[in-house]
Amino acid sequence: MNDLIIARTREELTAARDDGTVALVPTMGALHDGHIQLLKHARPLADNLVASIFVNPTQFGPGEDFEEYPRTFDADLERCAEAGVDVVFAPSVATMYPTGLDSTVMVDPGSLGSVLEGAVRPGHFRGVLTVVAKLFGLVRPDVAVFGEKDYQQLVLIRQMTQALCLGVDVQGCPTARDADGLALSSRNAYLSADEREQATALSRALRAGAAAAADGTDAVLSAARRVVADELIDLDYLALTDPDLGEPVPGQDARLLIAARVGKPRLIDNIGLTLGSG
Ligand code: AMP
Repeated sequence: MNDLIIARTREELTAARDDGTVALVPTMGALHDGHIQLLKHARPLADNLVASIFVNPTQFGPGEDFEEYPRTFDADLERCAEAGVDVVFAPSVATMYPTGLDSTVMVDPGSLGSVLEGAVRPGHFRGVLTVVAKLFGLVRPDVAVFGEKDYQQLVLIRQMTQALCLGVDVQGCPTARDADGLALSSRNAYLSADEREQATALSRALRAGAAAAADGTDAVLSAARRVVADELIDLDYLALTDPDLGEPVPGQDARLLIAARVGKPRLIDNIGLTLGSG
């Protein structure tokens, strides 16, 4: 196991890394096997592997779970060391927001920032893109790895990186799941035993939709809807898009995305599929 360095400022980051290439895996901590998969994907991509741990206040809306978000820093450090991380970047809010949180410069996500997750969580992607841009500025990575679990986030980060000419290779990593299909998420910790069972409806709906892909868009959506119809979950959206979140095209790759409240926690998931040309 390597010696893990904890850096809290840009100066400490600079001192911790060598002159080689840098891979960055941004996280909010409470690390699970999904995060570890990103770290393992990133490890061979660069000389220095940096994991950031920062619960970003600007991506949480009023009434969301910023205060209660699970914080497990010591366990996270152990998992990072095991996964071959060289540096954990764990900045303070003041380091990330040197001009304060109010009326400061923020990244405008463009029109995709206000659909799907953005429609339910206004301002969420503004906060996400702003913190990722700041992390890119502080860490200066050559490559950064994000999970497909947060699919709209991945698409928007790719768009931002291109639009703002940030020069970072943004890579996506498949979603890690429990044996019953539930996508791993730090928020699964909030689920009661019954809710945990009900939560499998999201991935079951996605699989049912994907199994109907050869029959086209309507078949995908109705197969997925049939699964969620009988469940005790409160559906926010079920949407079929092209891989860039535009209109799905028959005969081409598509993405099926779902979000639902299961008890208090809100969960999201998605799956890739190839539509039939019919
Ligand atoms: P978070 O700590 O939830 O902000 O997530 C940090 C990174 O881990 C993001 O790029 C997420 O998309 C990714 N991630 C979260 N859950 C999973 C999962 N189950 N599989 C793969 N990546 C994930």
